[in-house]
Amino acid sequence: MANEHLTTDYIYILGRGHNGSTVFNLLLGNHPDIESLGEFSSGFQRFQTETCSCGSKLQECKLWSRVFSNLDGNPNWIGADNYSSMLKYLDKFHRLPQVITRHFLPKWVENDYLPSTRLLFKEIAIASNASCIVDSSKELSRGTFFVSKFPENTKIVYLVRDGRAMIWSFLRRFRWSGRIKLFGKRRKIRSEILLVLHIIFSLTVSQVHAGILKFFHPGNIITVKFEDLSENTESEFERIGRFLEKDFSKITDRIISGNELEIGHNIGGNNMRHSQKGTFVFKHDDSWREHFPVYYSKLYLWFGFIHARLNGYRSLD
Ligand SMILES: [Zn+2]
Repeated sequence: MANEHLTTDYIYILGRGHNGSTVFNLLLGNHPDIESLGEFSSGFQRFQTETCSCGSKLQECKLWSRVFSNLDGNPNWIGADNYSSMLKYLDKFHRLPQVITRHFLPKWVENDYLPSTRLLFKEIAIASNASCIVDSSKELSRGTFFVSKFPENTKIVYLVRDGRAMIWSFLRRFRWSGRIKLFGKRRKIRSEILLVLHIIFSLTVSQVHAGILKFFHPGNIITVKFEDLSENTESEFERIGRFLEKDFSKITDRIISGNELEIGHNIGGNNMRHSQKGTFVFKHDDSWREHFPVYYSKLYLWFGFIHARLNGYRSLD
């Protein structure tokens, strides 16, 4: 079967929560030819109540309101309500077997979801004047679906970060709210240690899955270490630029000189995108190193050795 095409190029950020994907997606979105959407899937699923990073509800946002008004009335657009339900169904972790085998997928995927996706992406590209969109949804099933269905348009950035920094970020959220989002679901977890083991398990699953995707689509996926974005900014963005066929030198200059970067029209994801000013300065925060408990560090290095070894995260001393 011939490869199918999207109406835009599509960059998908894969990984686990708290890996820095919101920031990375915003950095990419500073390229004039790239529109960053944030965690598109979860954001769009709440399209009626979701606030865009520009501060407006989607119906009033400069970008999204234009997208919606252009889609309305198009006979091939399934409607935002239906589209949101389809995302809710397809982008779940447990759909992975269906997505990989492409068997047992409902008929509406071909008949309604794909034509609507093409239309939606096209309208986003027109409204933002960009030919490429970046989606930091991170879910394995969504990335797998797009890269196997549209290999000529899809590039996946598998974003990794030291598992301990991620665990620390999860723990801070957990200690504050007692609930945590894992594998796409908000869960109540009884103890911290269970949470830590759960995170280590999910890091291992995503690492193995990214390896499998790389095996089947070697030209479509690149691994980026979040730490390298601030420690080796220039060379890392050159490498990412070669992969995405874009020149990031202007963004690199702004990062290195500590200049402000713009926050576009992102949906979904964490609160960082709701900066009052609409801009942010990219600074690397590794304060977790001072606070991170040694026993959790050992747990990560022992049980999470696949993630730790393959990405070069070693003992702290
Ligand atoms: Zn907006």
